[in-house]
Amino acid sequence: MTVFEHPEFDHHRQVVFGSDEASGLRAIIAIHDTHRGPALGGLRIFPYASDAEALTDVLRLSRGMSYKSALADLPLGGGKAVIIADPRSDKTPALLRAMGRLVDSLGGAYITAEDSGSSEADMQVIAEVTDHVGGLRHHGGESGDPSPFTAWGVFCALKSAVRHGLGRDDLAGLRVAVQGVGHVGAHLARHLKDAGAELVLTDVDRQALAHLAETLGAEAVAPEAIFDAEVDLFAPCAMGAALTADVVERLRARVVCGAANNQLASPGIADRLMERGILYTPDYVANAGGVIEIAWQRRGDAYRREDVMAHIERIGDTLDEIFARANREQRSPARVADDLARERFGRG
Ligand code: NAD
Repeated sequence: MTVFEHPEFDHHRQVVFGSDEASGLRAIIAIHDTHRGPALGGLRIFPYASDAEALTDVLRLSRGMSYKSALADLPLGGGKAVIIADPRSDKTPALLRAMGRLVDSLGGAYITAEDSGSSEADMQVIAEVTDHVGGLRHHGGESGDPSPFTAWGVFCALKSAVRHGLGRDDLAGLRVAVQGVGHVGAHLARHLKDAGAELVLTDVDRQALAHLAETLGAEAVAPEAIFDAEVDLFAPCAMGAALTADVVERLRARVVCGAANNQLASPGIADRLMERGILYTPDYVANAGGVIEIAWQRRGDAYRREDVMAHIERIGDTLDEIFARANREQRSPARVADDLARERFGRG
């Protein structure tokens, strides 16, 4: 397993491997960039098949956080952490505290938060041993779950994408396919419904799908059928790599905008979407609402919900700039966003 020559290494500032025999901790923390501030990024707990697989994931995700924070105009860099473990069976308070001590040893260069496999409750345990934790329950008792904020950001992104891709300002009657109605997808579907959109929903969780479809008066389809739905906009809100070469050829939508991380199965997919006349909304710009909220939480008493929402709404302005530049330069918005982010964290 190589680190410095790894294809995803991209000049990471620091990669820390940590282990703790007593609790069974095996973890990696990757800090990609800290020019804009400390590296904030979630803690993923996953039973990776190998150390190499864990390293690839943490490097890729950490790098992504630098781009996300830069384009969300946050005073934060990019980082991420992974624990090689099964969150259902291996997650113990001792393991989480050992992880907390590893985070603490970096003196604040890395700030951890929830991600897949880790919860708000886990962050509370980690916070017993380090101050460098985001995504905790608010002082007033409000949940630290970032997904409502992420969904609101995706909704703002979607309005910008609809303006640029379809030349219209309102969403009334717009047909939208939402893939994945979990935390973010369900909130997004409700915002869309309130704005008058017609929804086609899918999820592998048939019960959750049926329940939401009924509540919102939406059409429910099988997971594989969502790609062929007769819609104006496709919103990937499930897992990464939804946009494969095959899917891009099948899509009827003229605009793609969703919450999922790493939607493009490979970078070249962005160009193919453009060739097909489909406007792609760079995922890490659209889904930054959660990290924006966590960044505001770090300001303690200066936290005001109106300021957080106003900051999240600026996602729409950033996308207006990206789409306009993409149009001028006849390049994919994905490539324009990457360039703009690198300019902002000083690697342009
Ligand atoms: P979640 O696990 O709550 O929801 C994902 C949903 O997708 C689940 O209901 C799951 O059953 C469904 N799903 C999985 N595979 C599917 C498939 N093949 N077809 C259809 N549905 C499928 O996760 P979430 O928190 O809502 O996050 C959704 C996406 O957004 C993820 O990619 C996540 O990384 C990304 N994201 C989330 C946040 C956040 O604040 N939660 C922030 C940024 C990015």
